[in-house]
Amino acid sequence: TKWVFNFGDGKADGAADKRNLLGGKGANLAEMSNLGLPVPPGFTITTEVCTWYYDHDNSYPDDLRAQVEAALEHVGSITERRFGDEKAPLLLSVRSGARVSMPGMMDTVLNLGLNDVTVKAIGEEAGDMRFAYDSYRRFIQMYSDVVLGVDHHEFEEILEEHKSLNDLMLDTEITADDWVGIIEKFKALVEKELGTPFPQDPQVQLWGAIGAVFSSWMVPRAKTYRRLHDIPATWGTAVNVQAMVFGNMGETSATGVAFTRNPSTGEKALYGEFLVNAQGEDVVAGIRTPQDITEKARLEAGSTKPSLENLMPECFSEFQAICDRLEAHYRDMQDLEFTIEKGKLWMLQTRAGKRTAKAALKIAVDMAAEGLLTEEEAVLRVEPAALDQLLHPTIDPKAKRDIVATGLPASPGAACGAIVFTSDEAEEAKAAGRKVILVRVETSPEDIHGMHAAEGILTSRGGMTSHAAVVARGMGKPCVSGAGMVRIDYRTGTISAGGRVLNKGDVITVDGATGQVLFGKVDMLQPALSGDFGTLMGWADKVRRMKVRTNAETPADAKVAREFGAEGIGLCRTEHMFFEGERIVAVREMILSETEDGRRAALAKLLPMQRQDFTTLFEIMKGLPVTIRLLDPPLHEFLPHSDSELADVAKAMGVDPDKLRERALSLHEFNPMLGHRGCRLLVSYPEIAEMQARAIFEAAVEAGKVTGDHVVPEIMVPLVGLKGELDLVRASIEKTAEAVQKEAGVELTYQIGTMVELPRAALQGAEIAKSAEFFSFGTNDLTQTTFGISRDDAASFLGTYQSKGLIEQDPFVSLDQDGVGELVKIGAERGRSTRSDIKLGICGEHGGDPASIQFCESIGLDYVSCSPFRVPIARLAAAQSAL
Ligand code: ADP
Ligand code: MG
Ligand code: MG
Repeated sequence: TKWVFNFGDGKADGAADKRNLLGGKGANLAEMSNLGLPVPPGFTITTEVCTWYYDHDNSYPDDLRAQVEAALEHVGSITERRFGDEKAPLLLSVRSGARVSMPGMMDTVLNLGLNDVTVKAIGEEAGDMRFAYDSYRRFIQMYSDVVLGVDHHEFEEILEEHKSLNDLMLDTEITADDWVGIIEKFKALVEKELGTPFPQDPQVQLWGAIGAVFSSWMVPRAKTYRRLHDIPATWGTAVNVQAMVFGNMGETSATGVAFTRNPSTGEKALYGEFLVNAQGEDVVAGIRTPQDITEKARLEAGSTKPSLENLMPECFSEFQAICDRLEAHYRDMQDLEFTIEKGKLWMLQTRAGKRTAKAALKIAVDMAAEGLLTEEEAVLRVEPAALDQLLHPTIDPKAKRDIVATGLPASPGAACGAIVFTSDEAEEAKAAGRKVILVRVETSPEDIHGMHAAEGILTSRGGMTSHAAVVARGMGKPCVSGAGMVRIDYRTGTISAGGRVLNKGDVITVDGATGQVLFGKVDMLQPALSGDFGTLMGWADKVRRMKVRTNAETPADAKVAREFGAEGIGLCRTEHMFFEGERIVAVREMILSETEDGRRAALAKLLPMQRQDFTTLFEIMKGLPVTIRLLDPPLHEFLPHSDSELADVAKAMGVDPDKLRERALSLHEFNPMLGHRGCRLLVSYPEIAEMQARAIFEAAVEAGKVTGDHVVPEIMVPLVGLKGELDLVRASIEKTAEAVQKEAGVELTYQIGTMVELPRAALQGAEIAKSAEFFSFGTNDLTQTTFGISRDDAASFLGTYQSKGLIEQDPFVSLDQDGVGELVKIGAERGRSTRSDIKLGICGEHGGDPASIQFCESIGLDYVSCSPFRVPIARLAAAQSAL
């Protein structure tokens, strides 16, 4: 087996496509060599050796040593040096590199091969003993820390002590002789800690480092990271062994990192930092302040330290040319590492650069304009979920952050306002034109109005799927949840965190992108839905097959969704309209009356209000499809909570409050989610369906007159399990339609369908479709009824299930494709079997989740429907799944 792959000198055994075998770093070093770029020669020990190592009790394949020997010879012949030679010693870096970059893996060891003898040779050759000893002490420090497990702090202490005794400020002030003394102390420390001297034999050093890389694959840190990111342990890591080049050989040497475009804005401009006379990670370690690479960046930052462009113009232009070349070659923004040794540029790493959502968008659109990518490739380059960051105001990166506390980034966007503690206060403030942040220990369904009124929400308890988090995301409101360090005292109207006390009325800013709670009003940037965003969405829409609708019932939500490109309403939950203003009294009258006449009287009061709601929605949606779901929740949800509320209803109905209380109590259910709700209510009380259907039809006529569009309402019957249920409700809808047609003298077009949210409905899809022109998969309830898990009670155990690996993801967030998905698939297939043109959509939370959307595409649904703020995400995800 070939375990070792060479690179350098304009060629390589591997290439970028061998990432699985060579790891990301190794594959790209090979690719850069093949491109003829200046890469110090070296070799990669493959990930297969790592697998072998763990399969064989931490040992190596027999022929590995010989292959490494040969590879070392090869590197030696290119560099005209020999590993371990006492005159012209080859020094090496040993670098780990998995398929995907992985924190937790072994840190790089530089200057390997140095010992008491070779250090002198290196110094004499360079004519610079200080440089040689500086490199040697770095090596002892790194090797001891990473390979031998001696904490680097202990070395730093020795160094600091030396500096303070000799009144030195910077490492660069330390002389060669000083370093010799310090090195002796370093070696003594290692011997004291380990009981054996620091290894002088370069071969021992090398195999120690190789073993350390492989061992680091199984350290807890790496294991945890793999578990969190779904990286299989079988992938293994590669080891890269490479000839050293020195950025610490004086003033004409340097080391740095760069991005080919700005990773935070996406601007097409080389962006990076470097340090003169430095090595390895000095740049990121923050020991000295690095300098800007380009003159442009230096001027922008107002820095007085010269740029690389200025200081080493030839190296700079070579580097710039390499950047352009690599970017064009990989057709993506690159993150690069380089070193300059005595005026000669060397490339040490390239990879696709990490970037913000904003940068991802700009880079994709720019690269398509530059002809580097096709429009379709550009569409695939932006992660749909990342768009969330762009649809909300964000904190100006230049703004000062005075952090009061940090919680979970539960719902993106930033908002600022005065602290209030109750939803009623939030509502009052909003009415008075004041902006507030609702601060609660946790929120409940009773807080919806306060959450609506507030600019943002902060809770001290609850996770990413807590009530506050889920509702806030649905509303598109910034939310920080579970800020455990915040103590909320409702009684005194104060919050305290980290020794600081804030009062009701104090202004704070919540940053839902980072989870930070900031003091005062912080400058923000408003989202731009035009420009690059509009361009990319336009390209996405061209390739998209599925339609994207929204779940909305309020005019405000419907308008936002239209602006985000929704192509209709997939779910209008009529009961949400029942809570508004004085309507609730009429709703309660309806529920609490014991006779049909009483109910009809109450419904008559609701009719004009519902008609008005629907008319407005139809007008906003301008002829686009609107699916309206008839009353769904158990009636008790609308019942009066307090005595005074009960008294109001009693007065409106002209009945005795006590009798009314009895009736209310009789509506109590043990398990309301599986109780008298959905179409079961409509079967018991057909007059409810009649009133709602009438409101819908009359609104369709009305809106048609105003906008001139022909409105085709889609009436959706919830919670159907039996075809007979649907037939019954259907009959009263049809009867109402006929009546309205006669009265209005117009021809109505409409569709009747059902929400598939019970396993029985999916299984009976063929039967039910005979009476349904459309199915909308209500995957929230379908998940509850398939798993037999109540969403409201799941928090107490789903987390444990996830941590024990029983389920990968919360099935209420991302569709369980194996189980719930199977039912959706069955329902769709069976529905089509008896009605080939049946319209199929999904309207659960999953309609806005990219992975679930991909699934919907795979089974050929006609549309997905999601909350307004997720519409762009769904458009992009639907486009990507069509490609
Ligand atoms: P990481 O994966 O943490 O970026 P690297 O293996 O890229 O680790 O090494 C970190 C740094 O070490 C590099 O950016 C570079 O500055 C330095 N380095 C690595 N290999 C060499 C080499 N052959 N010559 C000089 N410096 C090197
Ligand atoms: Mg590192
Ligand atoms: Mg690196």
